[in-house]
Amino acid sequence: MAYPDSWLNELLSKNDIVTVVSSYIELKPKGRRLWGLCPVHGEKTASFSVSPERQLYYCFGCHIGGSVIQFIMDVEHLTFPEAVEFLANRAGIAMPEEANDAAMQRERARRERLAEACKLAARFYMETLLGDEGASGRAYLKKRGITSESVKRFGIGYAPSGWESLKNYLTEKGFSPEELVEAGLLVKNEQSGRTYDAYRGRVIFPIVAANGRVVGFGARVLNNEDKPKYINTGDTLLYNKRNNLYGLNLQKSGKLPDLVMVEGYTDVIGLCEAGVTNAVASLGTALTQQQARLLKRYVSTVYIAYDGDAAGQNATIRGLDILSAEGLIVRVIVFPNEQDPDEFVRQNGKDAFDRLKENALSLNAFKLEAMARSYALEREDERERYAAEACRFIASLSPLEQERYYQQLSFKTGYSLETLKAQGESARPMRQPQPAGPRREWARKAQTRAAPREDERSRAESALLFHMMQSRDAAALVSKEGLEQQFLDEGFRKFAEGLAQAYARGETPNVPLLIAGLDKAGAERVSAAVRDEAACEEPEKAVRDCLCRIEQCDLAQQIEAMKKRLTEPAVSPEQRAELLREMQNLNLRMRGLR
Ligand SMILES: [Zn+2]
Repeated sequence: MAYPDSWLNELLSKNDIVTVVSSYIELKPKGRRLWGLCPVHGEKTASFSVSPERQLYYCFGCHIGGSVIQFIMDVEHLTFPEAVEFLANRAGIAMPEEANDAAMQRERARRERLAEACKLAARFYMETLLGDEGASGRAYLKKRGITSESVKRFGIGYAPSGWESLKNYLTEKGFSPEELVEAGLLVKNEQSGRTYDAYRGRVIFPIVAANGRVVGFGARVLNNEDKPKYINTGDTLLYNKRNNLYGLNLQKSGKLPDLVMVEGYTDVIGLCEAGVTNAVASLGTALTQQQARLLKRYVSTVYIAYDGDAAGQNATIRGLDILSAEGLIVRVIVFPNEQDPDEFVRQNGKDAFDRLKENALSLNAFKLEAMARSYALEREDERERYAAEACRFIASLSPLEQERYYQQLSFKTGYSLETLKAQGESARPMRQPQPAGPRREWARKAQTRAAPREDERSRAESALLFHMMQSRDAAALVSKEGLEQQFLDEGFRKFAEGLAQAYARGETPNVPLLIAGLDKAGAERVSAAVRDEAACEEPEKAVRDCLCRIEQCDLAQQIEAMKKRLTEPAVSPEQRAELLREMQNLNLRMRGLR
């Protein structure tokens, strides 16, 4: 959504970039910038810089940059509107749409109340666990091998077995039973109208959203006989299990190579205790698109570590297809003897887990494995049917993948490579959901990102922007030549237009505000373009030089295109002559520019 400029400007001025960044990393002055270790790409020498004067940041290592809003997007893994809200909360500014809307203000106030109730409930459960009533809860955790550090880290608690313990605690603090029902903390008996605690005699795992708020709870029985084993918060104003992942709130700082997706709370905790701190749990069996998008803000590769008995089920495979369709690289860890991750890592330790992870299957290999499991491969007819189904699947893959999987299939079934390939050819591809363009997305998100596109023309565009920002006269010169023509890069063009408009109004351009209005990629490119501090002595001369370079690039491109046309067989002799004449003209203009 668009925010009013005046409001965004207030937001930016109340969130000084140096103060905000300093709450994440230590900054030291050098030259006109402050420098620190990049909180996003992880490094040992400082290449992350902040310009207090311009209120911008730029990392010379991973090429991220922008205003304080983009910084929060990077470091907190938030979307633009979420980052804006984050900063508004931080500075205590009301969101613009709320300032004049009573209904929205009421809804926000209600959300705040529910969040407060959940926070207090989490505290109540935790204190109960540590107190007299928590003995059985503590005994259960001890039996599961869960340490007191984990209790603290994950905020684990215990719900006493009484019907109204939490209810009494929170109503005394001024919450109405209706509010507590709405928060999912109490349950209402529709017939009698009585309300009582939703969780009783259970160990409590609070679910914390990415913004650090407790939004829901998972509650587990103490023995395996009682049913249901888990009760989880249903949908509330604060919480929807489709949008959340357990443990994601703990994945903040430093570089995150990948995430491990597990099924349950105790898997996340068990792995963490063993030193695998990057596990998160889906809060239900089927993964959702929202969860996939959430994951994508953190990493590009996800390892699936589901219980041995769950892997291979169709629901699992559908979930993995959802991740893959969102452009994530999916690898599947297979546990021996149907163990779950918690059991496995407690028995065998982190090194053994890391080895399993190294040998994780690609999504396609995993599908083939799952397929194999539904056939009795020791029987010849079943083996043949499996081979036929597998060939159909393999034939739908890329040539390189085909090569690999035909070989594996040959090994597994005993059929020769030629036979399998012929079978695959004859049974032309069954359709495979191939998401559009995910590979480009991976490339963008790859862990060490390549420097932004820097050909001669974009270097010239970038320099133009820098001079426009420095000097009104330089900007006027570029505007006269036409911004549309000079800037092929859309982010550059939008920024240049913003600069020109500000000058036209007789104002000094508000650079962070202009950058805040760009999308993430645009903000990064513009921040890269304006990262230099050295003022130019003769900006107008420099601008002329840039414009000239841009024209040269365009001419060279046109000449190239003509050369290519000349080689086409369909070109008639008249056309050839015409093309050659035009080329000559272009070459003349080119020489005039040197
Ligand atoms: Zn960086």
